[in-house]
Amino acid sequence: MQPTKISPATLAKLAKLGIHHRSDLLLHLPLRYEDETHLAPIAAVQPGETVQVQGNITHSEIAFRPRRTLVCRLEDGGGELYLRFLNFYPSQQKQLAVGKQIRAIGEVRMGHYGLEMVHPKCRAVDNDTPLQQSLTPVYPTTAGLAQPLLRKLITNALETLPLSDTLPDALLKRLKLVGFAASIQLLHNPTPDMAARALEERSHAAWRRIKFDELLAQQLSMRVHHRERSKRVAPILAPTLEPHQQLTARLIKALPFVLTKAQQRTFAEISRDLAQPHPMQRLLLGDVGSGKTIVAALAALQAIENGYQVALMAPTEILAEQHYLKLRDWLEPLGIVPVWLSGSLKKKDKQLTAEQIASGETLLAIGTHALFQQQIEFHKLGLAIVDEQHKFGVQQRLALRRKGAASKSVRGEPVEPHLPQANALRQAQGERPEGFNSNEPHQLMMSATPIPRTLAMSYYADLDVSVIDEVPPGRTPVITKLVSDERRDEVIARVRSACMAGQQAYWVCPLIDESEALQLQTAIETYEKLRAEFPELKVGLVHGKLDNAEKVRVMAAFKAGELQLLVATTVIEVGVDVPNASLMVIDHAERMGLAQLHQLRGRVGRGAAQSLCILLYQQPLSELARARLKIIFESTDGFAIAQHDLQLRGPGELLGARQSGVAMLRFADISADEGLLNHARKAADELLRDFPEAARAHLHRWMANKHDYLHV
Ligand code: ADP
Ligand code: MG
Repeated sequence: MQPTKISPATLAKLAKLGIHHRSDLLLHLPLRYEDETHLAPIAAVQPGETVQVQGNITHSEIAFRPRRTLVCRLEDGGGELYLRFLNFYPSQQKQLAVGKQIRAIGEVRMGHYGLEMVHPKCRAVDNDTPLQQSLTPVYPTTAGLAQPLLRKLITNALETLPLSDTLPDALLKRLKLVGFAASIQLLHNPTPDMAARALEERSHAAWRRIKFDELLAQQLSMRVHHRERSKRVAPILAPTLEPHQQLTARLIKALPFVLTKAQQRTFAEISRDLAQPHPMQRLLLGDVGSGKTIVAALAALQAIENGYQVALMAPTEILAEQHYLKLRDWLEPLGIVPVWLSGSLKKKDKQLTAEQIASGETLLAIGTHALFQQQIEFHKLGLAIVDEQHKFGVQQRLALRRKGAASKSVRGEPVEPHLPQANALRQAQGERPEGFNSNEPHQLMMSATPIPRTLAMSYYADLDVSVIDEVPPGRTPVITKLVSDERRDEVIARVRSACMAGQQAYWVCPLIDESEALQLQTAIETYEKLRAEFPELKVGLVHGKLDNAEKVRVMAAFKAGELQLLVATTVIEVGVDVPNASLMVIDHAERMGLAQLHQLRGRVGRGAAQSLCILLYQQPLSELARARLKIIFESTDGFAIAQHDLQLRGPGELLGARQSGVAMLRFADISADEGLLNHARKAADELLRDFPEAARAHLHRWMANKHDYLHV
């Protein structure tokens, strides 16, 4: 048996799934199973069921309703159902010609003509085509990577790679764990006699073993990284005792609102971390609108009180600019004047700002990723704040962490006492040793992807988590409406009357995955159409390709109420705060992910007025799109939405983990598997103490491709 050759295109798709090495295929486990081991009589199937049926095609046509659709009728002697395809190839049409015998598997629902399956999986069969002997695994996948190919690659990996156990026998016996090889084989190819339910609910012994392994790997890596972090050095930024220097207290007093309990608590956690001689690495989680910015501003002031610089980074220019304006309002009265840095600044201005940062004249620099480009050197960076951190790549975050070190080596400040050890560790981890002083900044990361705290902690090897779990008082929840595209005219009328009554509205353009150019074109077309539609309104357009000055101008005009309708791409997804906007239309909402929809909707409902979010969708909806729209319609609680998102997509894609590779737990659930977690904790200590080889092998199996990212 030879390992299968994998094409570069397939490799890229596998990478999207977090599969970088052949051995990662082994741990890419099924999401669920399809039972192709028996056939259901059509007369007995119910809408909502996923079943396999077999019969003859008795009718086949291409209908236009309104889109070109292939519709076939399948009869098995006892009943009939329709198979419907929106995208199809001529070859498929041939395969589904009248008279053919077909086996189809899919979700049954009530359609136009009766029972139907939309885009079922079909194959031609004859009377004695055998049924499958084992349940068919369905793997998490990504666009363009078909199940059969993924299955083939995984089967090949199972046959060609060693599946040796990483754990000592005694441990397996004591914890009554089954072998790794047996578990993994069984989960990929369960026999039909196995209870599908136990597999899907992940309560089977094979799952127990895999979950244990995963939790153990997490515990091991947390210990390794904790040890490593405690050897790193950061400036002590304790709250100052000098009353006239207490900037944080002065800001709190000057605010037009009172901090929520959650804001006070999370700031206290951050404040305590900053006073430690080791770098803080804390994630501040809070739903959209929960008020993270003020907490970040307070953290910044505590660093500034100590004479250190602060960098605040945002993923888009719009957001960075907005932070700049807000923080300037808050901090200028205290004598702190922030600077603003973005890629689109004129060269001369950039130069000037860079000089102010390098000389230490500037204590607070706000900007986009331009802040951690190589030319930018900080004089004395004490704290780096990253807003909407899931939008940043890992490399960018690593670069920022190194900023503190780079600045110091230039200035020649005292040598870090732990440097030799720290560098040895860095080298062991494949990182470059740092400059002659590796004093590094504290890091505060913020995210509005509100996942349960226990889950968040399970995502990162070495990140402490603070959660803002309440929104400021006085907000009215947003009303959400789902509207089919056929009723677009009514939506347009609604926008008109709202804007005429003095409200402001967003119109969010459809997301087009394949092409940025196409997305831009769609945005411009939508804008032109709406402008023609609303001659009486002032309409603006904002998208990612506008130059900065223009973006700022449009956003400022919208904020000032000079524009009533803002047509926007998803660049407004993160952070944008215009409290008077109370209506949002999201075009082609079925194309967007849950987190994105929640973020977008969070742009309204920021003021006292009742807000409305209209999700325009195009029929027919895929199973997944339908599930997403239902969730977003039913819930406005970001934590609940994230929990559903997790169930729909699996944790790999939450939190931008897809791009950063930091998702730590894919299979175990910290709250449900608490017993296993306790075993894993003890086993981790035992392994590190008595079986370091086993610990290393185990970490290698589970963490190989995450290694670079674990200490970001
Ligand atoms: P997010 O957590 O989404 O970043 P922001 O920091 O942008 O939220 O805050 C949302 C809005 O709520 C802002 O206009 C902010 O000034 C306001 N805000 C923050 N904290 C409070 C509070 N405790 N009481 C009232 N309003 C607040
Ligand atoms: Mg924000």
